[in-house]
Amino acid sequence: MSDTHNDTHDGTGDGMGTGTDGGTREGTSYDVVVIGGGAGGLNAALVLARARRRVAVVDAGQPRNAPSPHMHSFLSRDGASPLAVLEIGRAEVERYGAVLVDGRVDQVEAAPEGGYHVRLDGGAVLDARHVVLATGLRDHLPDIPGLRALWGGDVLFCPYCHGYEVRDRPLVVLGVHPFSAGQALLIRQWSADVTYVDHGQGLAEEERERLAARGIRVVEGPVAGLTSRDGALHAVELADGREVPCAAVFLFPVMTPNDAAFDGLGCEKDERGWLVTDRAGRTSRPGLWAVGNAVDSRAQAVTAAGMGAAAAFALNHDLVDEESERDLARYRAGGVEPALAPAP
Ligand SMILES: Cc1cc2nc3c(=O)[nH]c(=O)nc-3n(C[C@H](O)[C@H](O)[C@H](O)COP(=O)(O)OP(=O)(O)OC[C@H]3O[C@@H](n4cnc5c(N)ncnc54)[C@H](O)[C@@H]3O)c2cc1C
Repeated sequence: MSDTHNDTHDGTGDGMGTGTDGGTREGTSYDVVVIGGGAGGLNAALVLARARRRVAVVDAGQPRNAPSPHMHSFLSRDGASPLAVLEIGRAEVERYGAVLVDGRVDQVEAAPEGGYHVRLDGGAVLDARHVVLATGLRDHLPDIPGLRALWGGDVLFCPYCHGYEVRDRPLVVLGVHPFSAGQALLIRQWSADVTYVDHGQGLAEEERERLAARGIRVVEGPVAGLTSRDGALHAVELADGREVPCAAVFLFPVMTPNDAAFDGLGCEKDERGWLVTDRAGRTSRPGLWAVGNAVDSRAQAVTAAGMGAAAAFALNHDLVDEESERDLARYRAGGVEPALAPAP
C-alpha cells in the first residue's frame, strides 16, 4: 500500500495512528519507519505496533533466502517456505495497524526539526522519529557457469540452514574465499564425503594438513562450471575436463551489508565497513537502529527476528523516556494539565 508524501511534505494519508503519544497523526509521519520487511524488520514492526507505536515498514521484497524453497532452524516454521513465513508476518504486523509500503528507500536524511526524512526511490518521503535499518545483506557469488541458477537449491552457504538435508551425500566445498577451508572442515560434520575444489583461493600448508586430517579430499581447479541433470546438480566440472560428481556445493560468498540508506549520517562503522551497534541495535547516531543481516552476517532468520524484537523494546523505551522528559518539562512550566486517569 502507499502511505507516503512527496518532497513538498503535503501528504494526505489516512492518518490511521495507533500510537498513544509522540508521533503526529498525519498520514506520512511515524514514530518509527522500518526499512526492510524480512524477519528482522517485521519482528521489530510487530513489537512496536503492539506497543501502540505508529509504524511503517518499507520493503523492496527481496529477502536474502528467497531463492530457497525451504527455511530451516526456525522453531515452529522448520521446512516452511521463507516467503510464506514473511507473508504470515506481514499479516500479523498489519493486524496491529502498521503500514506496509512496497518500495525501496534511497536515503535517510536528518530532519532540521528533529527526527528523520526517509526518502523512497519514487520521490516519496516518510517522516520518522526513529528509523530501523533491517535491509539484510548482499551475497556476491563467483561467476561460474550454472552456479547462480542453483543458488539456494543445490548450491548452499549455511550448513545450519540446509546441511541436514544433504547429510551423508557427496558434497563439494568451493575454494573461493579465505574462509573456504574452514567451511570445508565445518561441512565435514554433515557428511564423510567432502571434496574441497580450489577455484583460485589457494591453500596454506597447514590448511591442507587440516583438511587431510579430516579425510577431506582436495582437488585443484579451476572450475569451468556446474552441470545439472533434470534441474538437479550433477557435478562440478573442472577446466581440464575432469568432473567431481556431487549432490550439493557449498561456498562462502563475499557479503556486503545493504546499508547505503544510512550513508552520510555519520554512523560509526567497524574496520570491515559494517555499521557498529550496541546489543540492542542502536547505532552511534541517536534515533538510528540497525538489525539482522545488515549488521550481522551470521544472523539466521530467527536471530534476525530476535534482533528486531530486542531493538523494538529498547527503541520504545527511548521514546517513552523522550516523551516523559517532554511532559515533565511542560508540567513543571505549569503550561499543561497532566492527563490523569480517572479515579477508580
Ligand atoms: C540461500 C540462503 C538460504 C538461507 N536459508 C536459511 C534457512 O533455512 N534458515 C535461516 O534461518 N536462515 C537462512 N538464510 C539466512 C536468512 O536469509 C537470513 O538470516 C535472513 O534473511 C536475515 O533477515 P533480515 O531481516 O536481516 O534480512 P532479509 O531477510 O534479507 O530482509 C531484508 C529486506 O529488506 C529489503 N531491502 C533491502 N534494501 C532495502 C531498501 N533500501 N529499501 C527497502 N527495502 C530494502 C530486502 O528487499 C528484503 O526484503 C539463508 C540465506 C541464504 C543466502
